[in-house]
Amino acid sequence: LTVLGLETSCDETAASVVRRDEDGTVTVLSSIIGTQFEKHAPFGGVVPEIAARAHVEAIDAIAAEALRASGLSFAQLDGVAATAGPGLVGGVMVGLAFGKAVALATGAPLVAVNHLEGHAVSARLGADIAYPFLLLLVSGGHCQLLEVAGVGACKRLGSTIDDAAGEAFDKIAKALGLPYPGGPALEKLAVGGDASRYNLPRALLGRKDCDFSFSGLKTAAARIAETLTTDDERRDLAAGVQFAIARQLSERVDRAMKLYKETHGPEDLRFVVAGGVAANGAVRAALLADCEKNGFAFAAPPLAYCTDNAAMIALAGAERLALGLSDDLDAVARPRWPLDEAAALANPMNA
Ligand code: ATP
Ligand code: FE
Ligand code: MG
Repeated sequence: LTVLGLETSCDETAASVVRRDEDGTVTVLSSIIGTQFEKHAPFGGVVPEIAARAHVEAIDAIAAEALRASGLSFAQLDGVAATAGPGLVGGVMVGLAFGKAVALATGAPLVAVNHLEGHAVSARLGADIAYPFLLLLVSGGHCQLLEVAGVGACKRLGSTIDDAAGEAFDKIAKALGLPYPGGPALEKLAVGGDASRYNLPRALLGRKDCDFSFSGLKTAAARIAETLTTDDERRDLAAGVQFAIARQLSERVDRAMKLYKETHGPEDLRFVVAGGVAANGAVRAALLADCEKNGFAFAAPPLAYCTDNAAMIALAGAERLALGLSDDLDAVARPRWPLDEAAALANPMNA
């Protein structure tokens, strides 16, 4: 199956052509990402109305470029997959409407993809990972632990009770005077820093569930950031914040692995981390240690597919099409769309 993927849920206009063979082999034929970074930078964050307009301006050329780079024509597509939520709904509508138009014009089926399902399958763009697996989804808007039994079949083990991990990175980076998007900038600043210099709160330590909390850390770090005067101090705070986030993610994942093991045999011990924060080296290292400790195989998307891209949307669409799942042209854009609810709606057998 060869599928065009479209992603417009946040501040990246992206299009990609992905081929998925019957044996599950995945080939990314093209992946074009047009970032709106410069348009939002002056505001220190994504402005929804600016984002939606920028998607309208960019989507045509980005989709055409993805097709051109794949060497295929619209007529050769077996499906069109567009992000239908969750995200900034003005932007989601742009990509979804474009996808519907392509589907209508070519006769190829439309798949209205949950953006989070895209992140969930993104590690499969780099390696063949079998179901089921334990998933940590850590992005700009989400922080969740899920048991993924198959396409559209997720069970949530825990979520953040306040901010997402990426959001914490971004907000603390802003308090440190770093440019948006803050996560990668904070990681760079933290290199060589002393993570133990500042006392930062350790949220939810020892709790028996798999929930997360980052707002206490955000507030504490922002308060300390105000008092700093030297680059050394800022570097040490960045290191401390990165360590605190990695440690919390790792603690919760350790807990989730123990729960997952209660219902899964040794042949199912696979762990996947996905979403923008999966690009962070300290986070990856902490999670890798969890895997070694608990006997799980570790997988993460190639760095280019951690943050938003359309290849993961195309692949999620291809996996759904392979199971005979597609959507009508009246599919709606959804600002909120929990992954486990999507699972229940799309495949009641797995609810
Ligand atoms: P969602 O997928 O929840 O709708 P999103 O699409 O905005 O949110 P992603 O694109 O998956 O999120 O990830 C972006 C987030 O990842 C941002 O918060 C960004 O700061 C963070 N991030 C990206 N790279 C790194 C890094 N190297 N270290 C820490 N955080 C990072
Ligand atoms: Fe995302
Ligand atoms: Mg983004």
